[in-house]
Amino acid sequence: MKKYPLTAKRWEQIINNDASANGNFLYGVKTTKIFCKPSCPSRKPSRENVLIFKNGEDAIKNDFRPCKRCQPTGNVPNNEWVNEIKYYLDNNYQRKLSLDVIAEECHGSPFNLQRIFKKASSKTPQQYLTELRLKHAQVLLRETKLPIKTIATRVGFTSDTYFITTFKKYLLVTPEVFRAKKL
Ligand SMILES: [Zn+2]
Repeated sequence: MKKYPLTAKRWEQIINNDASANGNFLYGVKTTKIFCKPSCPSRKPSRENVLIFKNGEDAIKNDFRPCKRCQPTGNVPNNEWVNEIKYYLDNNYQRKLSLDVIAEECHGSPFNLQRIFKKASSKTPQQYLTELRLKHAQVLLRETKLPIKTIATRVGFTSDTYFITTFKKYLLVTPEVFRAKKL
């Protein structure tokens, strides 16, 4: 693949949302795997995470997906966007993620993100995230001897108390019992 460099000029155009650069190149952000037009009003990426693409085809070939907000390849269907959000959550569940952060990173408004996600997957992004965290916690409980507190933080819960309460609510046993009984 021919590499398109992130020149100083292109970087300027990205951070200034320069519409006159649209059509010259697209840029992708490695952490989200989403690509945008230079003019996209989404949050400024970190420079080291930016990749330049010649066009949408080039970006998609490299496993990037089009941004819902600036729609660099034309209309992005809702289900495609929901897959992008899920991909983002699957790869970032260890972090503290408010709806605002998720929306910012996935290039949409919090209101739209919540509504479209729920409609497509019959759960809210927060429920999806909780279930994902609990799934990873179960693996760690089964396969490691890590303390409960460490597991809680490692899968993205803000406290072990909240982790234990949530675990019990979904799985009907505490993490300790789950581990002891090898469930
Ligand atoms: Zn965009």
